[in-house]
Amino acid sequence: MKMASVKLKRQSVFESEKSCLESCNNNDSEEDPPGKRSISDDLDDEPPSRIATTRYRFFRDIPDSLWNDWKWQFRNRITRVEQLAQFIPLSTEEQAQLRLVAMRYPLSVTPYYLSLINPDDPDDPIRKQAIPSPMEMTMGSMGLEDPLDEKKDTVVPGLVHRYPDRVLLVLTDICPMFCRHCTRKREWRNGGWVRSPAEVEAMLDHISRHKAVRDVIISGGDPLTLSTGHLESIISRLRKIKHVEIIRIGTRFPVVLPQRIDNELCSTLAKHGPIWLNTHFNHAREITPEAAEACDRLLRSGVPVNNQSVLLRGVNDSVEAQTTLCHALLRIKVRPYYLFQCDEVQGTEHLRTPVEAGIKIIEGMRGHTSGLAIPTFVIDLPQSGGKVPLQPNYVLAQTEGELVLRNYEERVFHYRNPAKLARTESPAEVLCPAGSATANVPQEAAATLG
Ligand code: SF4
Repeated sequence: MKMASVKLKRQSVFESEKSCLESCNNNDSEEDPPGKRSISDDLDDEPPSRIATTRYRFFRDIPDSLWNDWKWQFRNRITRVEQLAQFIPLSTEEQAQLRLVAMRYPLSVTPYYLSLINPDDPDDPIRKQAIPSPMEMTMGSMGLEDPLDEKKDTVVPGLVHRYPDRVLLVLTDICPMFCRHCTRKREWRNGGWVRSPAEVEAMLDHISRHKAVRDVIISGGDPLTLSTGHLESIISRLRKIKHVEIIRIGTRFPVVLPQRIDNELCSTLAKHGPIWLNTHFNHAREITPEAAEACDRLLRSGVPVNNQSVLLRGVNDSVEAQTTLCHALLRIKVRPYYLFQCDEVQGTEHLRTPVEAGIKIIEGMRGHTSGLAIPTFVIDLPQSGGKVPLQPNYVLAQTEGELVLRNYEERVFHYRNPAKLARTESPAEVLCPAGSATANVPQEAAATLG
């Protein structure tokens, strides 16, 4: 079905949004999910040059003041299949299928992220991350609900303590978008919760009592769905715990709702540093001017931004897609940090790739671009096994004194492997022992020394 043929009821979005904004201003408790509303527009008459971003095609009546207001974006998330069908061509049968999927794995997309989708391409890489697929159900028996066994390591509600020096703090299960590949999609049906003050106290108390904890990761659901004031009240408490050295925030807001990264948030984070922010760009088309500006605001506030992408079938599972993504990240000064093998989560099997695909991508990048552009490809092991980095194998053979290595061009090199030293010997003692210039020096090295 062509978008031009879709007939929609036109409604005065602007007028209804004015009243929505007013009601939001009267109630500033952003941690409660704002109400869900429908947005529709006439899809006709759009010049083809604007297909790259559909903001002006779908949201023509929305002025910049609302479009750039993250609370407006959040309140106007698309959460029902009927709403979605106003933007994406979906047959009646497809809509029925998606309704079934959404009953198990709900739908939520911000207008901003929706505007990045090319509605005329069913294989659009942005669409695959946001729009449900019937395969979430047809392949839904494969995988596990909680593949990382986070429940097992949960010490108090919302606090996962698996490694001695790090904890994961989950403050809410609310996200601006439900990413179809999410590891925690099991949480989506729980209706949107925010940890109560008593639960936060219990988490802080646990961290205070465990002096080995030097790194606190605040992650999702997305913690930036909380109001800046609420977030600050928790971060400032964490900062008072002397052994907590760094705080990391895991958020997809720079990707799906970059308007959230406003000056108020950035100055708050700047006050309580060192805070690191890990985000989750999966495709170069997500790096829009708005996303770039959001990252720039963070960086200027002294918050380093790293990217953790997930390898997804049909989204970014080629050398070209990953290289383009990583180059685009470097241009906005975001470091490509991890490339995750998609976890074996129920409802994501259709997006998972064979492990070999990730290794081949790294192999296709290594040597062909700067090492700074190459993320570490990792599998997060099930049953609390932790992260394991996977690399192409460059070692063709190894003996005690030598390695045979191939490089990125498949050229073979012999590399002399220095002999192991006994524990008590320093390199200086080996090369210049008392009484002899070459005593204890391996034969090859002695020959070199002459
Ligand atoms: S933002 Fe993160 S936690 Fe939320 S749905 Fe997406 S991947 Fe999952």
